[in-house]
Amino acid sequence: MIHRLDEETINQIAAGEVIERPASVVKELVENAIDAGADVISVEIRGGGTTLIRVTDNGRGIAEEELPLAFARHTTSKIVNAEDLRDLHSLGFRGEALSSIAAVSRLEVVSKTPDSLTGSHLLIEGGEEILKEEIGAPDGSTFVVRDLFFNTPARRKFLKSENTESSRVYDYLERLALSRPEVSFRLIVNGAERISTNGSGNLQAVIYALFGRDTTEKLLPVSGESDGMTLSGMMCRPEASRGNRGMEIFFVNGRYVEDKILRKALEEAYRPYLMQHRFPAAVLSLEMPADEVDVNVHPSKLEVRFDRGDKVYEFVNRIISARLAHREWIDTVRLMQENSRPVKPEPRREEAPSLPEPFETRRWEQLHERMPAYVPAPEQKPIAAGEQQTLFAEKDLDEQHLPEYEYVGQVFMTYWLIAFRDKLMLIDQHAAHEKILFEELMARVRDNVPSVQQLAPPLILHLSERERTVLEEHLPEFTRLGFELEPFGGSDYAMRGVPMGLIGIAEKTAVDRVIAELMAKPELGKTEDLAYRELASMACKAAVKGNMRLTE
Ligand code: ADP
Ligand code: MG
Repeated sequence: MIHRLDEETINQIAAGEVIERPASVVKELVENAIDAGADVISVEIRGGGTTLIRVTDNGRGIAEEELPLAFARHTTSKIVNAEDLRDLHSLGFRGEALSSIAAVSRLEVVSKTPDSLTGSHLLIEGGEEILKEEIGAPDGSTFVVRDLFFNTPARRKFLKSENTESSRVYDYLERLALSRPEVSFRLIVNGAERISTNGSGNLQAVIYALFGRDTTEKLLPVSGESDGMTLSGMMCRPEASRGNRGMEIFFVNGRYVEDKILRKALEEAYRPYLMQHRFPAAVLSLEMPADEVDVNVHPSKLEVRFDRGDKVYEFVNRIISARLAHREWIDTVRLMQENSRPVKPEPRREEAPSLPEPFETRRWEQLHERMPAYVPAPEQKPIAAGEQQTLFAEKDLDEQHLPEYEYVGQVFMTYWLIAFRDKLMLIDQHAAHEKILFEELMARVRDNVPSVQQLAPPLILHLSERERTVLEEHLPEFTRLGFELEPFGGSDYAMRGVPMGLIGIAEKTAVDRVIAELMAKPELGKTEDLAYRELASMACKAAVKGNMRLTE
């Protein structure tokens, strides 16, 4: 039987399209606050946002007579007709956020405009106005959303754990804070302050507030311009790479986006400098003519569509690459001064010295003294994961041959040259050490005897909110492996002990990698064996690296 849906049902369906989860409520309310000219915005959530969401701003407020109108469907002060959509500067424009939120929660608003003496207070429940009164209030607006989805149980069931919903709110605000250094943001989760930026307009200050000192100290400012495009922001030195993509952050014309082209342009530029499974950290803002990009492909998704993806790729990749090359040069000079050797002009990469003749150890020593500190040798390819297995399957590499090996020297600070009978073998020092550590650690995990080495003082891990959540969920597995970790205020963790053999080598990156892996494949956590194997393997991957001088 065909029948007409009632108004309430229609509103709830419409609401479902805009408001999927607590983070979408926060997004709509915060974007409204920014559109209202606020530069101090505070967000508080409880129960992952289902119990309470409170957003307070110091924007221009809503006049008393307009307040009820703001909550009706398709009401907005931002556009008049479809024509205006093309020339849009504000963030939200569909005029359905407030009505949608009102339809699926108990909503309370206090708002005051600067030119009125008092503010107004409005209570709405499931879309019904319950109370409207005058109230004393500061300029600006406060929205309180309680019991989200109380009248739409299906929607509520679809939500993830409280922790997960909280971290989505966190992620959203983190990005927004990065894109708006001039706005002061605060996030309070279950009474604890998680984000606090000062609104000074300085991107570095925001990065400091969000990611801590470690990351901030290793940042390089980057900027460049061509063809009407401008790229600006901060990027990390390769030494400060991360175990996941969590800090590859892009904004296009002010909007946070997740885009393959941009990510690839960044990662490819870093590729010569990073180990496998390491990722750059960067906060980059791309400005380009509005008619060459569509950032509103889908309002609640993070996609972007470029007219000329190849042009964008080339532009971003070129600027990042150039910045990385420049950094090297500076570092090399500084390094040489520290070693109090005479400063002489460094050979440029493409002019790196060719193989000296005759081919002997001492000459190699001199050669790598002249190699810039961080530059991989010219033809050096990233180490393919598969090579290691074939290496160990090789019968020449058997312990019984050990006495016959003649160590010739180390090249590129990365490979050992070993003469054996009529062969010359190249051993990748990283791959070799990794394999040994892996076997040792696995043996201990199998026998359930993690040996812990104490760290004094402890190392502090600055984790993102989502990383902290993952770490907490898998704490027992880390403990079994030999990590001693405990909360250290905010989302920081103190690492007091590491598995034997990892000390001084991998303690930070190991945890970082494991968390990244668990974030990428949450199902790992369910299969204990697999998880341990993964943990152990990754912990060991951070063995002695290439580009490291080792004594014979
Ligand atoms: P839209 O943002 O698409 O216009 P909304 O439903 O989100 O639609 O908001 C409706 C209207 O309510 C806005 O156009 C704006 O005039 C007003 N409004 C909403 N939030 C605020 C706020 N925090 N401060 C001032 N005005 C607001
Ligand atoms: Mg809006």
